[in-house]
Amino acid sequence: MSKLIEVIEKPNFCPKCFRESVEKVFYGTYEEFSAINSENLLFGGSRKYNFMPDFMCIHCQQEFKMSNTAPLEVVVSENYKEFSEKNS
Ligand SMILES: [Zn+2]
Repeated sequence: MSKLIEVIEKPNFCPKCFRESVEKVFYGTYEEFSAINSENLLFGGSRKYNFMPDFMCIHCQQEFKMSNTAPLEVVVSENYKEFSEKNS
């Protein structure tokens, strides 16, 4: 299982598989979830516990969790730089 990555905001790409988006995980009733009917939303269940992710990459199952203290901005930037260089 992938280690949960802490982020300060919704990542605009997955740092693990470099997919260009991640899905938001919705917590609430299934009726509420159905009513929203968004393609980029995953159903997480009715109750959100501390360890549960806020975002997830449906391609590699990498999970992300919002954190005020996450240093991820830097980590993502470095990974992305590496990725860009490899593919340019
Ligand atoms: Zn991914």
